[in-house]
Amino acid sequence: MINNKTIEKFREIETPFYYYDLDVLRSTLDIVKKESENSGYKVHYAIKANHNPKIMKIISSYGLGADCVSGNEIAAAIIAGFSPSSIVFAGVGKTDKDIEAALKADIYCFNCESIPEIEVINYLAAKQRKVARIALRINPYIDAHTHKYITTGIEESKFGINTWEIEEVIKKISTLKNIRLLGMHFHIGSQITRMSVFKSLFARINELQEWFTTHSINLEIINVGGGLGIDYENPDKNPLFEDYFSMLNEFIDLMPGQTLHMEPGRSIIGQCGSLISRVLFIKNGSNTLFAIIDAGMTDLIRPALYQAHHKIENLTSEGNIYRYDVVGPICESSDTFAKYIELPETRRGDIIAIRSAGAYGEAMASRYNLRDLPPSVFSDEI
Ligand SMILES: *Cc1c(COP(=O)(O)O)cnc(C)c1O
Repeated sequence: MINNKTIEKFREIETPFYYYDLDVLRSTLDIVKKESENSGYKVHYAIKANHNPKIMKIISSYGLGADCVSGNEIAAAIIAGFSPSSIVFAGVGKTDKDIEAALKADIYCFNCESIPEIEVINYLAAKQRKVARIALRINPYIDAHTHKYITTGIEESKFGINTWEIEEVIKKISTLKNIRLLGMHFHIGSQITRMSVFKSLFARINELQEWFTTHSINLEIINVGGGLGIDYENPDKNPLFEDYFSMLNEFIDLMPGQTLHMEPGRSIIGQCGSLISRVLFIKNGSNTLFAIIDAGMTDLIRPALYQAHHKIENLTSEGNIYRYDVVGPICESSDTFAKYIELPETRRGDIIAIRSAGAYGEAMASRYNLRDLPPSVFSDEI
């Protein structure tokens, strides 16, 4: 909830900007921390969802690890207080420079997606006289039933090692002196809301575990990746981490001594952020009213990139309900936040909140049209 006092403060601030409600973030982190301590599961926050330094600092202060996808993310995570020994590094195309930096920082684990990648890590680790810990990102062929651009674990995905390649990969690794295999890694997509999808993944993980057992290979870790969805219709509802943890406990058969890892991004940071904007003009279309706002796809690209839905609220009007297309100022027709949605009568100067924008919002902002990057405003600063 964005209360009246906060709305009054918003009136004094230049828009657009990201607003982060730190009480929401902290209450989410309290639950994650408690569940993680009770279960012994290790949580690595996926930095790519939001790399705002203050956000990262708060998250690291709860003792979480980090999941990074570039050398710059690793460097930023370390500055924000994440311990290198809690950092995992994912990505289908890691550069030599990024691998070298990760080895130098002594990160916990590289999540690897191909034999050529593992060979390069081995070579670069040898040069530093180190042994790189790796996990195999395996493509489990599970359809996440989410938008196609954020589905990553089906057969045609560029991500992961195919199951029919595992044997070859294991043989290869046994010849590489500077690689130590820790375990298996998965990440099948994002904004997953059907719990049956996770159950299918966990069943698949159990099957794969058997394969490793029959080949007498001990794995220390199972990393289930991220993907837990949030409720974009109900921005004030936090994701059900309790249910997620108990599902993991019920459906994954860990071997003795094995540790379970996960990499939530969106579910940690999504609901605490809103993009705050002002209405510039109301314009008559041929069969709709356009509310043209000062935030655009450069500030929040999710609707334009994958038809994502965000709840939009007019914080400063209580008038009669009309229908509007809420659009940004960018010179692209895809710069549309919502079509034909109900809002109280909206006028120039009204303040609009685009909710559930904490994840993949600020982090994906660009300077297209040479616009300014959106600044961030925190609930404890206003
Ligand atoms: C993006 C990503 C995540 C985080 O996904 P969410 O849907 O934000 O939880 C976790 N692991 C990997 C490998 C990723 O690429």
